[in-house]
Amino acid sequence: MAARHHARRHPIPSEGGLSCPDSLWCAPGRIVEHFIMDQPIPPYLFAFAVGHIVSRDIGPRTRVYAGPDVVDEAAREFAGTEEMIRAGEKLFGPYDWERFDLLVLPMSFPYAGMENPRMVFLTPTVIKGDPAGAHVVADELAHSWTGNLITNKTNEDFWLNEGFTTYAERRIVEVVQGEERAALSMGRGWRELNRTVERFRDNMEFTKLKPCMQGIDPDDVYSQIPYEKGFQFLWRIERQVGRPVFDKFTKKYISTFKFQSIDTETFIDFLKANVPGIENQIDLRLWVEGIGIPPDAMEPVSAVYNKIKTLASEFKNGQMSGDDEVVQWNGQEWQLYLENLSSNIDPSQALALDARYRLSGSRDWEVKVAFLELAISAGCKEYFAEAERLLKQVGRMRYLRLLYTALAKCSDKGKMLARRIYAEARNCYHPIAQGVVESILSKHA
Ligand SMILES: [Zn+2]
Repeated sequence: MAARHHARRHPIPSEGGLSCPDSLWCAPGRIVEHFIMDQPIPPYLFAFAVGHIVSRDIGPRTRVYAGPDVVDEAAREFAGTEEMIRAGEKLFGPYDWERFDLLVLPMSFPYAGMENPRMVFLTPTVIKGDPAGAHVVADELAHSWTGNLITNKTNEDFWLNEGFTTYAERRIVEVVQGEERAALSMGRGWRELNRTVERFRDNMEFTKLKPCMQGIDPDDVYSQIPYEKGFQFLWRIERQVGRPVFDKFTKKYISTFKFQSIDTETFIDFLKANVPGIENQIDLRLWVEGIGIPPDAMEPVSAVYNKIKTLASEFKNGQMSGDDEVVQWNGQEWQLYLENLSSNIDPSQALALDARYRLSGSRDWEVKVAFLELAISAGCKEYFAEAERLLKQVGRMRYLRLLYTALAKCSDKGKMLARRIYAEARNCYHPIAQGVVESILSKHA
């Protein structure tokens, strides 16, 4: 369906088909459909979907597809999509795929989204009645230029897809939702980058922008490094040359390599050729081949981000913030706040927080999961039942990873519960998600 371009149907005559050009597929009563897509794509971007799907037009080149029960809500949530496409075109050049349709999948879909060209696939958990949270759509849209138009040659060059897309996504968000919101996203990314480097402290190879992937299953070492270190690298170049020069460079990079697969070396050569002397200003080798976080990486400056961090540390010291400070918050702010509390709060603090702000009942899945992870890690058995309900309702891997890990680590009772939930929910999870949960459970056996 993603490639429905010149769809042509012809029914096979029931007598059997000498006239049928697809003799291999000919059978009485069968219908053959042809799909042609003019733009070349790598095989991992080929996808199709089958189901009881209805649609709503939400823009001149965008239609939302979904099950009948969620389609209207989805259409409202993604109403700002055309504005984002225009912002993207201004920054990165023409949108070359004609259509940008959105397909909302069932709850078992294991990812936030998948950037299939012409029709992006999305988890229904991104629908939260908060149009400011549409950055998942911004991310998939940004892939239209970086990732889909220019694709990494091998998985070792994955950062060319994801680092560039993280950068492009934040630029689009900055235009559509403002600088503060973009900075907030950068702040969360910075934190995530530091956490990931810590996670790989015994295997620093995978903190390299271009790691050696020989004999490695990419799913086993999947992390935010290509995303956030890639983002930091591009942001570092932007700071060095200034935004106008960098924007010109990016546009030229995209128009030069569009509809091709390239490697990191090709990017670096192109950078040196178009920004003469850059290698004397930035240690490009350290960025690409070095481990950890280079010294000239930077934590973003954001008033909101700093405020949230301060409030989180005040809370840990026993101070509850005044309501007026948090009433304006939406999902991203709450998430950052909860992430900054991390696990070293005690159960009574988690309960007090929930009593006041009803985070365990949030409509925003990100907030709800972040809270449940925090509370369970802090030792609150009160939330076991809510975690169980959630884990049987949704198959998005990020949530499974966070909650199964929290349960498996918190106590023997939590561990047993995690095993039982998984045994009962397993068949609703995608095979890749099953693998993730199984490795968590065996790691904490
Ligand atoms: Zn992506």
